[in-house]
Amino acid sequence: MADSTLTGIPVATGIAIGKAFFVNRNHMANLPRQIVAAEDMPAEIERLRAAFKSVETELAAIREQVPEELKSHGSLIDTHLMMLKDPKLAGASEKYIETLGLNAAWALEKAVSDQEATFEAIKDQYIRERMQDVRVVAEKVQTKLMGVKTDLSSISGRAIIMAHDLTPADTVELQVDKIMAFATVRGGKTSHTGIMARSLGIPALVGVGRLEEVHDGDLVIIDGLTGKIVINPTESELAEYNERAALFEDYTRKIRRHCHLPAETFDGSRVMVQANIELVEEVTAVLDNGGEGVGLYRTEYAYLNRTTLPTEEELAEKYIDLAAIMSPRKVVFRTLDLGSDKFIASYGELNETNPAMGLRAIRFCLKNPQLFKTQLRAILRASAYGNVSLMFPMISGVKEVRQAKAWLAQAKAELRREGVDYDPDMPIGTMIELPAAVMIAEFLAHEVDFFSIGTNDLIQYSIGVDRTNRHVSYLYQPLHPATLRAIKLVVDAAHQAGIEVSLCGEVASDPFCVPILLGMGIDSISMTPQAIPGIKRIIRQTNMHDCRLLLKDVLECRTVSRINNLVMDNIFKHFPEEVTFFSSLLENDELPS
Ligand code: PEP
Ligand code: MG
Repeated sequence: MADSTLTGIPVATGIAIGKAFFVNRNHMANLPRQIVAAEDMPAEIERLRAAFKSVETELAAIREQVPEELKSHGSLIDTHLMMLKDPKLAGASEKYIETLGLNAAWALEKAVSDQEATFEAIKDQYIRERMQDVRVVAEKVQTKLMGVKTDLSSISGRAIIMAHDLTPADTVELQVDKIMAFATVRGGKTSHTGIMARSLGIPALVGVGRLEEVHDGDLVIIDGLTGKIVINPTESELAEYNERAALFEDYTRKIRRHCHLPAETFDGSRVMVQANIELVEEVTAVLDNGGEGVGLYRTEYAYLNRTTLPTEEELAEKYIDLAAIMSPRKVVFRTLDLGSDKFIASYGELNETNPAMGLRAIRFCLKNPQLFKTQLRAILRASAYGNVSLMFPMISGVKEVRQAKAWLAQAKAELRREGVDYDPDMPIGTMIELPAAVMIAEFLAHEVDFFSIGTNDLIQYSIGVDRTNRHVSYLYQPLHPATLRAIKLVVDAAHQAGIEVSLCGEVASDPFCVPILLGMGIDSISMTPQAIPGIKRIIRQTNMHDCRLLLKDVLECRTVSRINNLVMDNIFKHFPEEVTFFSSLLENDELPS
């Protein structure tokens, strides 16, 4: 038997076998607090100095390797290096060792807290940012003192990352070529960590709950199909998983061969299958996997991991590249969805009690019009180079759409005056992610050219279940009758008003849900690029007539379990080959009954 087996929520499929590399993000909870004897104080001061020096050496080495195109990341490291060299922080810590006899990590903690207390009352944004940087630098030194490895860039060889949590900013920093898979204690199915893993094409589990049993260097298997982590497997387990991994790779290769065929049902209905991307660099994955366009470009990722805001020029350059490469295929730019779990250093954390319901997305942009307008201008400029659409996230009412469009009109007027080209007919859409937007879909449909249903948030807000909270992930049900009715309402409202409707939440990549969406008459679906070949294959083997019948039955069900049964029957009936294949990858006790 393996040492032990843990279970998490699978968020990106595939099987990886490799050495664990633990990135302990929660180590501050275990900060040692000890009193040092007088005779040991000089040695403790030496230890502190050595830790500062060692972090400095490591950062300097990383700085050397930062590529030119990641300039902003480089300047953040420069700031941290300056702070490490600043004698104030180290000096204050040494004093606490000498006068109070605190151990080095605790002394540094006290020195940082003093600085925070001094600057707390100052509302200046710049000071706030610097204070956050001081905290980051201090934590690096403290983890060094505690002997904990944290730096994602210090991974040697290829590894499976184990972490308490990975923020969207962390995932942007990951060196993809070194990472085979990851597992985190926290997180839910549609947390942005999972989304990022899927776009990187590596297996991932979130919401594992605990990872104490895993140690650095342990051989682990991450099974992104069943959600299992097998720690130090036996020879026979290893052989079995190697076989499953090979089968899965074969299947992936096979379905990719047909991914460029159109997503057309047996009886001739077409649905557009597009991709969700977070970084412009993902266009290759979109095209390689047969994406017919970019249905959702999450533009906020380009704002993370930097201390300054991107300029209009910087954004326009990226956006123009994307529009031109994808042309004549469509690219839907979603304006910034910052806030909640995605913060930018320049604005700091907003310290909200309930950030998911706070100053997020369009609300944040309307409060910061300069930042909003810079982005709108850049998107408009890109519209002259391809087939560009724009949409607003987290819309809760007609007024918000009108306010957002007013800023867009102003951006257009400015560009016109400056003689800069843009597409005056660029389609404008809104995401439908809030129950309020669902209920007024018929009004919103008259304000915009298209809808895009964001089920990740729509499920979160309508069922009242935090999409990142593993404790309630069992309630996060795409096939909840409320979710399905909401989607149907929006599709019908859109079509009644003569506008197109897309769906870009994770539901779009769920083979169990797609036949229902087809039955509703959805015009396009957008998903992580890696999911496109499989979903296109499902659509090509489907009959629209059957989808409508399935939808009719599903809408009559009152419970999720009834719907699940119907959907399962449908899969068994229409996709026996898929069922047989995936069954062969699961263990017997995991097969649906
Ligand atoms: C959604 O909410 O479904 C969506 C696509 O947006 P995001 O996942 O970026 O919040
Ligand atoms: Mg959303």
